[in-house]
Amino acid sequence: MASMSDTGFRIDLYSDTKSRPSPQMLDAMARARCGDEQQGEDPTVAELNAKVATLLGKEAALFLPSGTMANLVSILVHCERGDEILAERSSHVLHFETGGASALAGAVLTAIDGDRGMFSAEDLARHLRPRRWNSPRSRMIWIEQTTNLGGGAVWPLGTLQSLWALAQSEGLILHIDGARLLNAAVAAGVDPKAYGSLCDTLWLDFTKGLGAPFGAVLAGSNDFIGRARRFKHMLGGAMRQAGVMAGACLYALDHNLSRLAVDHANAGLLHQGLSTLPWLRPLAEPQTNIIVAKLDTGLVQAGRLSGCLAEKGIRVSVFGADMIRMVTHLDISQSDIEETIDAFQGIRF
Ligand SMILES: *Cc1c(COP(=O)(O)O)cnc(C)c1O
Repeated sequence: MASMSDTGFRIDLYSDTKSRPSPQMLDAMARARCGDEQQGEDPTVAELNAKVATLLGKEAALFLPSGTMANLVSILVHCERGDEILAERSSHVLHFETGGASALAGAVLTAIDGDRGMFSAEDLARHLRPRRWNSPRSRMIWIEQTTNLGGGAVWPLGTLQSLWALAQSEGLILHIDGARLLNAAVAAGVDPKAYGSLCDTLWLDFTKGLGAPFGAVLAGSNDFIGRARRFKHMLGGAMRQAGVMAGACLYALDHNLSRLAVDHANAGLLHQGLSTLPWLRPLAEPQTNIIVAKLDTGLVQAGRLSGCLAEKGIRVSVFGADMIRMVTHLDISQSDIEETIDAFQGIRF
């Protein structure tokens, strides 16, 4: 909360990954019971897995070091080489996971043009390939809940229901990249189980709004999780006394979930404060904790803007010359938002 982080930024809106573990979280980690996670002997990891499986309404769950590994492990289980994943063009798996889906699972990634990171069942149906011997096999429908570069938009339940029905009728897998699934649940007032009931596999990230330093939990059927565990090990993701990590995640679930609504309110406040600037246009009013905005590059380029903000100790992320992203999180207070709005409004080009 406006305390100087080691990066020198006082107000770090670059990502919700920038929050640091609180003294209470560190204390919970120090007190966590531990065992050999690789062998399935860590009681705190077991507790976390059971808790997330229940939260998402799935049979089983698997603790992993990161969300990136949760996605890759899922792809390795679901796809054979040459199988196709259909994802929205702005999705994380396409841009920020080093092409692991292709490099390590041999999957074909097809980008669907959507709106704020989302597409409809009709859009998806148009991309399905005929079942021909010489076509890639369309295999996975990829949903990012909430959308990241789409500006934190929440996929409506109705859209997910239509996509789930399509997946069932076409024999496709529906996977939810749930890096910010709980932001969606809180914003939409939806029980996370409802999302779990409309997909084969999904996961939660603990390093985003929940504010832990690591960890993701992937959930699905017993059969899926059994196979996922083998790939986790293959990728070097099995750990030893991971109870210290799971302890942070359990603490986050118990204490930081209610905080997400505050982050959403802060994003709303920021959006409102920036709405009068003639050179900046947010994609949409934020539904959760992310604001993605386009710049009028005739007036200012994103690099220049972020430089001006950095001089005031504020960090935003830059995507190309004309787009910036700001993400609220538990180390951003309402007064940080007010200061950020003042900083934007005080900029003269
Ligand atoms: C952050 C993120 C990931 C990857 O999660 P890590 O825990 O950072 O590996 C995947 N998908 C989305 C949408 C994300 O925002």
